[in-house]
Amino acid sequence: MAFKFCSIASGSSGNCQYIEGGKGKILVDAGLSGKRIQESLNSIGANSGNIDGILVTHEHKDHIKGVGILSRRFDIPIYANNNTWEVMREYLGKLKEENIRIIKNNDTFEIKDIGISTFKTSHDAIDSMGYTLNYRNKKISIVTDTGIITDEIKNEIKNSDLLMLESNHDVDMLKVGSYPYYLKKRVLSSSGHLSNEDAGNLIVDIFQDKFKKIFLGHLSKENNFPELAYQTVVNIISEKGIKINKDVEIDIANRHQPTVLCKI
Ligand SMILES: [Zn+2]
Ligand SMILES: [Zn+2]
Repeated sequence: MAFKFCSIASGSSGNCQYIEGGKGKILVDAGLSGKRIQESLNSIGANSGNIDGILVTHEHKDHIKGVGILSRRFDIPIYANNNTWEVMREYLGKLKEENIRIIKNNDTFEIKDIGISTFKTSHDAIDSMGYTLNYRNKKISIVTDTGIITDEIKNEIKNSDLLMLESNHDVDMLKVGSYPYYLKKRVLSSSGHLSNEDAGNLIVDIFQDKFKKIFLGHLSKENNFPELAYQTVVNIISEKGIKINKDVEIDIANRHQPTVLCKI
């Protein structure tokens, strides 16, 4: 059976990724309304009632909006580290005690057939994390909401078959755009978001034959275009001899629309 991935939505209006491996069915973040997530899962042939766990990256609203609702509605356990729990607990509303699962940074654990590891990201949240998910010999990594790529992140995500990577902004668009100064500074800082160039450079840096599919995600509405993100990344990695659609496929994880259910 294949390892499956779908980005339900990605960006500041809401983030949610669906992963299925064997009997395991997982959401990474649920930052849209419960209704939207249910409808989107239905549209790809998945069922909210079968979700085994929601993994939370950090407490920003665009990542947790639907977490409490889905947990209550479908009795789903929620996984997050202690610091994140402390900040988001109040926002999630009433939860079953047994659905509050505390995990650590650099943790490894399993949900049914899926092996999961966590790693620290660099973001202006209390204690943000990224996740890698393993099923049989396949690996999916999700890295968004980080201002820099640390050696730890590189180590964690190398050898991925599928990578969802932040490509938040075009630096020039951000600099000349309408964001107030403090926000520009925040996005560009080491605890902000990765630019298109950052994404391209990282792919070059860690590229191995195993990489087959990369989704560029968390694109800014104000400071990026899907075509620009795609082309910037393609230009950077093509220059280094990596052949698009032969060595690796690059796709955009849309802000509002689910991607296809990708099988690896
Ligand atoms: Zn975010
Ligand atoms: Zn964030």
